[in-house]
Amino acid sequence: MPGFEFFGDEERKEVNDVLETGILMRYGFDGPRKGIWKSKELEAAICSRFGSEYAQLTSSGTAALTTAMAALGIGAGDEVIMPAFTFVASFEAVLSMGAIPVLVDIDESLTLAPAAVKAAITPKTKCVMPVHMCGSMADLDALKEICTEHKLILLEDACQSIGGTYKGKALGTIGDAGTFSFDFVKTITCGEGGVVMTNNKDVYIKSDAFTDHGHDHLGVDRGADLHPFLGYNFRISELHAAVGLAQIKKLDTFLSLQKRNNQILRSYIEQVPGASFRVVPDPAGDSFSFLSWFLPSQAQTEKAIEALKAAGILGGNFYWYANNWHYIRKWDHLKTAKSLYALSEAQQNALTSLQNNAFAKSDAVMSRCISTAISLTWTEEQVHEKGAQFLSVLKAALS
Ligand SMILES: *Cc1c(COP(=O)(O)O)cnc(C)c1O
Repeated sequence: MPGFEFFGDEERKEVNDVLETGILMRYGFDGPRKGIWKSKELEAAICSRFGSEYAQLTSSGTAALTTAMAALGIGAGDEVIMPAFTFVASFEAVLSMGAIPVLVDIDESLTLAPAAVKAAITPKTKCVMPVHMCGSMADLDALKEICTEHKLILLEDACQSIGGTYKGKALGTIGDAGTFSFDFVKTITCGEGGVVMTNNKDVYIKSDAFTDHGHDHLGVDRGADLHPFLGYNFRISELHAAVGLAQIKKLDTFLSLQKRNNQILRSYIEQVPGASFRVVPDPAGDSFSFLSWFLPSQAQTEKAIEALKAAGILGGNFYWYANNWHYIRKWDHLKTAKSLYALSEAQQNALTSLQNNAFAKSDAVMSRCISTAISLTWTEEQVHEKGAQFLSVLKAALS
């Protein structure tokens, strides 16, 4: 899955271009930078590779989500419907805008259940934020239809599904805006970084200014810029963008290795009695960064996890149900609204009410799910070995 596995001379070369001039900032210093604009180059590469009209790099994926929400006008009191299975960054961004995260059930796609989204809509709902978890996508046609009917914004958190597609379009380019993360464990890494993608010029212009203290970037130099609205510093540095530029050129290699290794491993898991696989709304669009599979019951899944641990091959296999980072079950800080700064009353009420919320449908899915991260470095032979080992351990444990 992670691009850091293929860090090499290409990344070093791009970073060295920046080190030669010493201009580490993405804006200004036109003379001394000698034509080196890594951030601009990476934005252009993102637009052309993913078919997005516009791209605005940011300092992280969390910053990208925050920026996208600001540019889409999501703020105080607005409700954002999002899944109960995601990374904490998704609700962090919502809360930082003064908005209210409304967590709802997922289904066997491991992403938003369209019926749960419909049931959660109130007059305060402003946005639906599917999170394309573990390399694959939500049912975007169904979600788009709901958004159109109720005049809601569709914001895709595609941080975990770089290179995935839905009906031929890149994930992250289908909603009103979409985001990628380029943190260290994502499919493409910058070390730290992220991007907002959109086909809406207004959303792009706002994102561009918001990430740089509201600068309109229209002046003859930074000092001459006006500030049409408030912003923050969510800028990426040239050093980080340089790494990403080398990585995006390797993306097709990453994706083909992921697909090969994923499919070989799947051919073994298929033989595990009772095993089934995650529902993928458009199977051709899977980025194959994870193989997510189910056993028939929670008891069997726990037994399988124990057996994999005992055999020393648990690494890279995630049982999200018991994981501190990705599933609502363990988000006590969220459910008790433990914030360093004052949250609004509406935010506090929404968060503490999560304690009384049963996510029975999500539990029924997540308690039976194991996600296996697909490494880029496995040789074909090694994946076959791994698969065979998996199969024998699991068959023994589950018989
Ligand atoms: C990684 C991730 C993010 C945030 O990215 P950072 O770059 O680490 O801030 C957001 N959403 C999801 C689903 C992620 O996996």
